[in-house]
Amino acid sequence: MLFNKSSINQLLIVVLSTLPIPALSETITLNENTKLQGEFTQGGLIRGKTLASSHITLNDNIIRSTPDGQFAFGFGRDAAKISTIVITPPHGKKLSHTFKVKSRNYALQEVNGVPQKTVTPPQSVLGRIKKETRLVKTARKTDSDSTDFLSTFQWPLIGPITGVYGSQRVYNGTPKRPHYGLDIAAPVGTPVRAPTDVTVTLAHQNMYYSGGTLIMDHGYGISSTFIHLNEVLVKVGDKIKKGDVVARVGSKGRSTGPHLDWRINWFGVRLDPALIMPDMPAAQRK
Ligand SMILES: [Zn+2]
Repeated sequence: MLFNKSSINQLLIVVLSTLPIPALSETITLNENTKLQGEFTQGGLIRGKTLASSHITLNDNIIRSTPDGQFAFGFGRDAAKISTIVITPPHGKKLSHTFKVKSRNYALQEVNGVPQKTVTPPQSVLGRIKKETRLVKTARKTDSDSTDFLSTFQWPLIGPITGVYGSQRVYNGTPKRPHYGLDIAAPVGTPVRAPTDVTVTLAHQNMYYSGGTLIMDHGYGISSTFIHLNEVLVKVGDKIKKGDVVARVGSKGRSTGPHLDWRINWFGVRLDPALIMPDMPAAQRK
C-alpha cells in the first residue's frame, strides 16, 4: 500500500490524536535512572520510576515502590505550590528535587433539587453516616502490591460531563464540601466499567450520601471510587479485568439525576480523573 504525503500526515494526525496522553502530562527526568511523569498541578497523579530498592520521600512522607522501582503519588485539591521529592538509591548519591505544583481556580456550582434530607440529615441517621464514612476511609487506606496503577486508565462510561473536580458546591442553597468527582451523565442502568484491572475493596448498595458505592484498588494507595450507583455488581475481594462491567448508573443519595461520579484517590488525597484521562472519545459522546 502506498501513501502520498498528505495521507501520511492524515494518518499521523489520527495516531497522535488517539494517543492516550492527557494534555497536561509532563515528564521530569532527574537522572538516567529516575523520572517522574504526570500532571504537576493540584489534583494531578504522578507516576515515577527509579532504581529498585530506593528509599523515597515526598515532603518527608515515605513513598513505597514496586520491586522494580515504580511508584505513584498525587496532589490534592489545595496542594501547596512546592513539593520536594528525595530519592536515596541502595548504592550511590541521594537525589533531591523540588518542583512547582500549579494552582487552580475552582468554580462555584449551585446544585438545586437534591433531597433536602441529604443536605441537612436528621439526627437519626448521623450514626449510619459515621459508620459509612469509616468504611470508605478504611477502603482508601488499602496499600496493596498491585501494579494496576501503572496501566493506562480507560473511561468507565461515555457521556456528557456534568460536574467537575474541585468545584465549591452549594446544595439547595447551603454551602457544602467541594466536589471531588468527575460527573458523567447517563441513563439509569447504563453499565459502568473498571478503569484498569482492579480488586474490589468496598461494595455497598446504598450509602446515605453516595447511594451505591464501589471502591476499587489500583495498587500502592491509588484507588477509584464510583458513587450514586443504582446497582453494584461485584463484591469485596473480586478481581476484575479492565473494561469489565462492575456496576450500573443510578441517582441514589445526594444527586439530582442519573450519573456516574468517579473519584480517584491516593490514599486520603483526592485526585482529578479529568487530568489523568485523555479526552473522552468524541465520536461516542452523547
Ligand atoms: Zn458528583
